[in-house]
Amino acid sequence: MNVLRTIEEARKRSRAAGSRGARVGLVPTMGALHEGHLSLIRAAKAKSDIVAASIFVNPTQFGPNEDFARYPRDLDRDLGLLEREGVDFVFVPSVEEMYPEQGVTWITVEGLSERLCGKSRPGHFRGVATVVAKLFNIVSPDLAFFGQKDAAQVAIIRRIVRDLNMPVQIEVVPIVRESDGLALSSRNAYLNPEQRKDALVLFGALNGVRELFEKGERGSAALIRAAKADFERIPAVRLDYFEIVDPDDLTPVTAINKRSLVAVAAFLGGTRLIDNIVLEP
Ligand code: AMP
Repeated sequence: MNVLRTIEEARKRSRAAGSRGARVGLVPTMGALHEGHLSLIRAAKAKSDIVAASIFVNPTQFGPNEDFARYPRDLDRDLGLLEREGVDFVFVPSVEEMYPEQGVTWITVEGLSERLCGKSRPGHFRGVATVVAKLFNIVSPDLAFFGQKDAAQVAIIRRIVRDLNMPVQIEVVPIVRESDGLALSSRNAYLNPEQRKDALVLFGALNGVRELFEKGERGSAALIRAAKADFERIPAVRLDYFEIVDPDDLTPVTAINKRSLVAVAAFLGGTRLIDNIVLEP
């Protein structure tokens, strides 16, 4: 497995694969890898000839009071995991390599960037969209793999690819969970044992909504009310949002009459977790 630190090396490695006709699959990550990331790698292995991963904690997608500085980083462990999965090359740029000067060019996906997490994390999706576009320009992947865990990110990247005619196929991989249902996240490492227990309310509330939906409830207001009641029982968890939206444009739906995204974000102390399910009548 090649570990490439510069844009030039990554571009050269990817071009060489492309010129042999190999299909390159890219898995962008911020490291602190877990089984969720590895499921993306395995999906990429299944669908691509050459699998590339990137590890880059992207400063432009963190707000000023967010966890950029303390975000978990363990490069040696991450590289060991990627090597074991048979990844062909890993792009691990420094911040200076990716942003040698203050960027003035940004990708903003109007509307979508301000919905769900974009509402409480202004600038977050602009940072995500811009860094993903940069990674696509550097690696020129034929396919790129993203987790359903970040459902809004998926909607935004799909829209960028469509609007800007990027020649990359976006593949989405289901959420990997702990045995008790908690969605895997690098940020779960921040939780103390009490918070780890309380964190189950996210998936619990989503499951409650699924049960009501399966009993015939379609109205978003009633479903959201039930979910919010679950959160009120755990005062240590502060709900950021619980919404039912169109999975493509992220606008709220009043009733689940078509495929809909039920998405939640909540704070446990300083840790912000997200989760979602998709319901289809
Ligand atoms: P991150 O390192 O958090 O930026 O995540 C990198 C990629 O892994 C993103 O496409 C995430 O959606 C995906 N991912 C993170 N957690 C999970 C999970 N539990 N299941 C599936 N994919 C995930």
